[in-house]
Amino acid sequence: MPKQQTPPTSPPPKGNIRQPSLLLVNTGDGKGKSTAAFGTAMRAVARGWRVAVVQFLKSGEWQVGEEKIGRRIGIDWWALGDGFTWDSTDMDESEAIAREAWGEASEKIAGGDYELVVLDEITYPINWGWVDLEEVITTLSRRPSKVNVIITGRDAPREIIEIADTVTEMKNVKHAYDKGVMARRGIDY
Ligand code: ATP
Ligand code: MG
Repeated sequence: MPKQQTPPTSPPPKGNIRQPSLLLVNTGDGKGKSTAAFGTAMRAVARGWRVAVVQFLKSGEWQVGEEKIGRRIGIDWWALGDGFTWDSTDMDESEAIAREAWGEASEKIAGGDYELVVLDEITYPINWGWVDLEEVITTLSRRPSKVNVIITGRDAPREIIEIADTVTEMKNVKHAYDKGVMARRGIDY
């Protein structure tokens, strides 16, 4: 009699769906959202994909590490504030910059020139009401079929999670910061 195998609780899907592109979300309060996105970007470059990264939070010194290497391997990297001119009198500068970043990001997505677009920390300006959630949903839903998108940041809006294919919540079990260890070169930036 053949050995009985325990059946999995739910049978795995056949895995034969050929979806042209994916929307991924890295959210949660633990470390690893951005670094996982950049790791995927590395894979994408290795496969000959065109990759764009748009960063939505001012990082200053912080992300020079990945930006430097990213540019070197051919990623089209747009850090917050790049090429920005501010002429609005009725809007907060940070809000205007975030909107500018979204303008850049939505063009990159809609343009269809990239196989991967990373929207790093975009959940923050969305949650602050600076970038219109409806508009983000529309742009993501109507994106050209080959454009994969990764969204990172805490508290990803429910509406984005609903239309995403893969959603990972980084859970903070411990962080060195909690015992007073500051951000570290090579580990955090
Ligand atoms: P990383 O860029 O390291 O992948 P992240 O994108 O998940 O981190 P962010 O919320 O973007 O996290 O925070 C950026 C910085 O804050 C990183 O230097 C990271 O180490 C630090 N950080 C992340 N999670 C925590 C946490 N739970 N407590 C304190 N600092 C954190
Ligand atoms: Mg991050």
